[in-house]
Amino acid sequence: MWKIRRGVLTLILESSRSSYPDEFGAFLRAKHRIIYEIVLLPGTVSGSSSVVYNLMMKPIDFTIVGSVHSHPSGVPLPSQADLDMFSRTGDIHLIVAYPFNFDSWKAYNRFGEEIDVKVID
Ligand SMILES: [Zn+2]
Repeated sequence: MWKIRRGVLTLILESSRSSYPDEFGAFLRAKHRIIYEIVLLPGTVSGSSSVVYNLMMKPIDFTIVGSVHSHPSGVPLPSQADLDMFSRTGDIHLIVAYPFNFDSWKAYNRFGEEIDVKVID
Protein backbone atom coordinates (compact mmCIF):
# COMPACT_ATOMS: atom_id res chain seq x y z
CA MET A 1 0.00 0.00 0.00
CA TRP A 2 1.14 3.52 -0.79
CA LYS A 3 1.71 6.00 2.00
CA ILE A 4 2.32 9.75 2.06
CA ARG A 5 3.87 11.83 4.78
CA ARG A 6 1.38 14.30 6.27
CA GLY A 7 3.82 17.19 5.81
CA VAL A 8 4.10 16.46 2.08
CA LEU A 9 0.32 16.37 1.69
CA THR A 10 0.06 19.64 3.64
CA LEU A 11 2.60 21.25 1.31
CA ILE A 12 0.64 20.01 -1.73
CA LEU A 13 -2.61 21.41 -0.35
CA GLU A 14 -1.01 24.76 0.51
CA SER A 15 0.65 25.01 -2.91
CA SER A 16 -2.66 24.21 -4.62
CA ARG A 17 -4.36 26.92 -2.57
CA SER A 18 -1.74 29.52 -3.45
CA SER A 19 -1.87 28.62 -7.17
CA TYR A 20 -5.68 28.86 -7.22
CA PRO A 21 -7.47 29.65 -9.56
CA ASP A 22 -4.63 28.21 -11.66
CA GLU A 23 -3.60 24.58 -11.44
CA PHE A 24 -0.65 23.36 -9.42
CA GLY A 25 1.42 20.37 -10.49
CA ALA A 26 4.52 18.48 -9.42
CA PHE A 27 6.09 15.03 -9.43
CA LEU A 28 6.15 12.72 -6.42
CA ARG A 29 9.28 11.16 -5.00
CA ALA A 30 9.06 8.00 -2.87
CA LYS A 31 11.10 5.34 -1.18
CA HIS A 32 9.61 1.97 -0.19
CA ARG A 33 6.22 3.25 -1.43
CA ILE A 34 6.29 6.17 1.01
CA ILE A 35 5.92 9.54 -0.72
CA TYR A 36 8.30 11.84 1.09
CA GLU A 37 8.88 14.74 -1.29
CA ILE A 38 7.41 16.68 -4.21
CA VAL A 39 9.62 17.62 -7.13
CA LEU A 40 8.94 20.98 -8.74
CA LEU A 41 10.18 21.44 -12.27
CA PRO A 42 10.01 24.51 -14.49
CA GLY A 43 6.67 24.60 -16.25
CA THR A 44 5.06 22.04 -13.97
CA VAL A 45 4.42 24.34 -11.06
CA SER A 46 1.32 26.27 -12.06
CA GLY A 47 -0.66 27.47 -15.01
CA SER A 48 -4.08 26.78 -16.46
CA SER A 49 -4.30 23.90 -18.92
CA SER A 50 -0.58 23.37 -19.51
CA VAL A 51 0.24 21.73 -16.17
CA VAL A 52 -0.88 18.22 -17.13
CA TYR A 53 0.79 18.56 -20.52
CA ASN A 54 4.04 19.59 -18.84
CA LEU A 55 3.83 16.64 -16.46
CA MET A 56 4.04 14.40 -19.53
CA MET A 57 7.68 15.52 -19.79
CA LYS A 58 8.80 13.38 -16.89
CA PRO A 59 12.56 13.36 -16.42
CA ILE A 60 14.47 10.08 -16.24
CA ASP A 61 14.62 9.81 -12.48
CA PHE A 62 13.70 6.50 -10.89
CA THR A 63 12.95 8.09 -7.53
CA ILE A 64 9.98 9.83 -9.16
CA VAL A 65 6.99 7.52 -8.78
CA GLY A 66 4.15 9.64 -10.12
CA SER A 67 2.47 13.02 -10.14
CA VAL A 68 0.19 15.39 -8.34
CA HIS A 69 -1.92 18.19 -9.74
CA SER A 70 -4.81 20.31 -8.59
CA HIS A 71 -8.33 20.65 -9.93
CA PRO A 72 -9.56 24.16 -9.17
CA SER A 73 -12.99 22.98 -10.40
CA GLY A 74 -13.49 21.02 -7.17
CA VAL A 75 -13.98 17.65 -8.92
CA PRO A 76 -11.12 15.22 -8.17
CA LEU A 77 -11.79 12.95 -11.16
CA PRO A 78 -9.20 12.43 -13.93
CA SER A 79 -9.82 13.91 -17.38
CA GLN A 80 -8.82 12.06 -20.55
CA ALA A 81 -5.61 14.11 -20.66
CA ASP A 82 -4.95 13.13 -17.03
CA LEU A 83 -5.41 9.43 -17.87
CA ASP A 84 -2.96 9.73 -20.77
CA MET A 85 -0.43 11.38 -18.46
CA PHE A 86 -0.99 8.80 -15.65
CA SER A 87 -0.25 5.92 -18.01
CA ARG A 88 3.10 7.42 -18.99
CA THR A 89 4.52 8.97 -15.86
CA GLY A 90 4.32 6.50 -12.97
CA ASP A 91 2.35 4.25 -10.67
CA ILE A 92 0.65 6.77 -8.40
CA HIS A 93 -1.11 10.03 -9.16
CA LEU A 94 -2.85 12.41 -6.83
CA ILE A 95 -5.55 14.88 -7.78
CA VAL A 96 -6.30 17.51 -5.17
CA ALA A 97 -9.55 19.41 -5.64
CA TYR A 98 -10.79 22.75 -4.38
CA PRO A 99 -11.11 23.59 -1.44
CA PHE A 100 -7.81 21.66 -1.02
CA ASN A 101 -8.32 20.07 2.36
CA PHE A 102 -7.59 16.57 3.72
CA ASP A 103 -10.93 15.31 2.37
CA SER A 104 -10.70 16.76 -1.14
CA TRP A 105 -8.06 14.60 -2.80
CA LYS A 106 -7.96 11.20 -4.46
CA ALA A 107 -5.22 8.84 -5.63
CA TYR A 108 -5.12 6.77 -8.82
CA ASN A 109 -2.89 4.14 -10.35
CA ARG A 110 -1.49 4.32 -13.89
CA PHE A 111 -4.76 2.85 -15.22
CA GLY A 112 -6.85 5.61 -13.64
CA GLU A 113 -8.27 3.28 -10.98
CA GLU A 114 -8.76 4.85 -7.56
CA ILE A 115 -6.38 3.52 -4.91
CA ASP A 116 -5.96 4.01 -1.18
CA VAL A 117 -3.05 6.02 0.15
CA LYS A 118 -2.43 6.15 3.86
CA VAL A 119 -1.37 9.43 5.44
CA ILE A 120 1.42 8.91 7.95
CA ASP A 121 3.14 11.23 10.41
ZN1 LIG B 1 -6.53 16.90 -14.09
